[in-house]
Amino acid sequence: MDGTRNRDSRRRAVPARRLSRLGPAPPLGAHLSIAGAVWRAVERAVELHCTALQIFTQAPGRWSGRPIPPEDAERFRAMASEAGLGGRVVAHAPYLINVASPDDALRNRSIALLVDQLERARELELAGVVLHPGAHTGSGVAAGVERAAAGIAEALERAPGAPPVLVEVTAGQGTVLGADLAEIGAILDRLPRERSGTCWDTAHLWGAGWEITRADVWEALWEAFAAATGRERPDAVHLNDTNVPLGSRKDRHERIGYGLLGEETFRRIVCDPRLVETPMVLETPKGPDEVSWDREALELLRGFAAACH
Ligand SMILES: [Zn+2]
Repeated sequence: MDGTRNRDSRRRAVPARRLSRLGPAPPLGAHLSIAGAVWRAVERAVELHCTALQIFTQAPGRWSGRPIPPEDAERFRAMASEAGLGGRVVAHAPYLINVASPDDALRNRSIALLVDQLERARELELAGVVLHPGAHTGSGVAAGVERAAAGIAEALERAPGAPPVLVEVTAGQGTVLGADLAEIGAILDRLPRERSGTCWDTAHLWGAGWEITRADVWEALWEAFAAATGRERPDAVHLNDTNVPLGSRKDRHERIGYGLLGEETFRRIVCDPRLVETPMVLETPKGPDEVSWDREALELLRGFAAACH
């Protein structure tokens, strides 16, 4: 498992506090827990020197979350702003949501939960809500895309003033939509531009067949993305390594440098000038103590970003 790891690059890792002298770096962080209170995620982010953050605003496997007490939301906003995380925190919507479902009851429940997530994100002043476009469960891609787009549009209408929905590129497991960029583009076409965007995920791209270990394929991805969506860049990126075979349509995340993507792929991504303002977060296994694996990966990535030029 350790074979792809380049030990030399580990020595170039630079602690966050020394980076201010070293030129622009993209916002880098991780998906962190809100256990205890929502603002505890900001404490955890500060401990890891994160400049970007992703959270669940409720337990991700439940249809109804505990409301966020107003004083907790206020504390979150103040702490995030003080930590320099303003505009660089996104929420990930619960996995239960399937706005593409042909089952009306499930789809309506999904739309209602998405509205709730958007309202939470508005309250916390987040930059967006990352959403999987859903699964058509046998009803066909065209019908699924249609329902997903209409469902997201409805949720946005019911949550005025909320931040954008960021539709995530998926690995395309089963009948899940979003591995084909044309599907993402077709959904975005139906949404207000200023209230919609995309999230890339390196493990999902690989699972969907994009061999992003190759620089030419990385460039081809950008071209295909622009052609399919009319958007210049993603609004967030999930940085995950993976050990699933290329194009296997499987979705499994691995620690950075411990998978088939390898360190060089992530070096190219954090050094891509098109992404210098795009929040990038880890969604990789946490290890025994919840922080040391994220800390190791973030130090590695910050070292790459500091040595780009
Ligand atoms: Zn996701």
